[in-house]
Amino acid sequence: MASNLPAPSEFIFELRVCQWAERAWPPVGSLGGDTVAFVARQLGVKRRRWDTIVVEADREALERRARFGEGALDSDLLPVVRNAPPDWAWYRDALPEPDYPWRYVREAVHRAGDRGVVETRRGPNGRIELRRRWAYPDWIERIVAVENKPDLDASAARNLAPQLERDVALGLADEVWVATSATESTVEPALLEDLPVEAGILAVDTERGSVDVAWNPRTLAPDAPGTRITDRPSGGDHDASAARFEYADPEWKADKRLEIAERAYERGWRSYADTMRPDCRHFDLCVSDGDVLPWCGAKSCHPTAGECSGNCSSWEPEPPAWRQRGWPIEGGPGKAIKRLLDQQRRRERPELAEDG
Ligand code: SF4
Repeated sequence: MASNLPAPSEFIFELRVCQWAERAWPPVGSLGGDTVAFVARQLGVKRRRWDTIVVEADREALERRARFGEGALDSDLLPVVRNAPPDWAWYRDALPEPDYPWRYVREAVHRAGDRGVVETRRGPNGRIELRRRWAYPDWIERIVAVENKPDLDASAARNLAPQLERDVALGLADEVWVATSATESTVEPALLEDLPVEAGILAVDTERGSVDVAWNPRTLAPDAPGTRITDRPSGGDHDASAARFEYADPEWKADKRLEIAERAYERGWRSYADTMRPDCRHFDLCVSDGDVLPWCGAKSCHPTAGECSGNCSSWEPEPPAWRQRGWPIEGGPGKAIKRLLDQQRRRERPELAEDG
């Protein structure tokens, strides 16, 4: 099917890269027996969102992380679960002093208690007390960012290079890669573009489902201070201004890495169905060159997330008859597609399987 189709959109290319990473990570060598990897997409920090993220985790620690549930622990909950004491204590004695009012911390303690990730009670003098249910494990080994650019021509490379330079300077990820479509050339054209040498290059053959390393990345230093490039001069004849930088301390980086990994843990990369229209009668999943991809029967293509949205003029609801068996408890095919994607996610994540 795919060979008669136009070149994949960036979105479909991204899904293929995610599927490959889930099957075959890492690109060189293998993970140690104590390490597992999972994949997510479209996550990052405020001004920077990576296309594909691979989180390498300690297998046993990840199983302990699973006790806290499938949902991400956000930046408010993480300090609570990480600092909750083994014995009952007033939350203000137990948790680190925040740089915002304590009432927000109290709110987070209640939320953590409601989610069952800590225990809470009202102490003898009416004070809110907490204690841990489990110690929060140190489960992240490495975070790898992959930028997907199927058509990495000179103009795409010019746009991408400053983003990669920012990634390298900040060093939030352990490695940064660019994934691009493989060509027949003996030297992949991406190597001839002016990209930072610290970024690795993956040449992806979507038809054969294979990925080759065209350039190995340099390992970055997430534990060291990083540099945030906040302003970069255009470098033209009339712009002699200097770039502006901010310092990023290792504690900030460690917190952001943990928040990114937590969101990756919750979302994985199959959550695209949440922003598309699997409730449309034309929406389907198809296997193309070994990858499972969204398919639009009305347009005979793999739709992008932007196309397959509330704005699509070809959208049609699932006929009621499709929903009769089991509906409304199980929903129609659209719900079934979401369930299928969730089951696939669980199959790849043994630590989640029991909750399914
Ligand atoms: S018709 Fe539109 S909404 Fe329906 S599957 Fe195709 S792209 Fe998505």
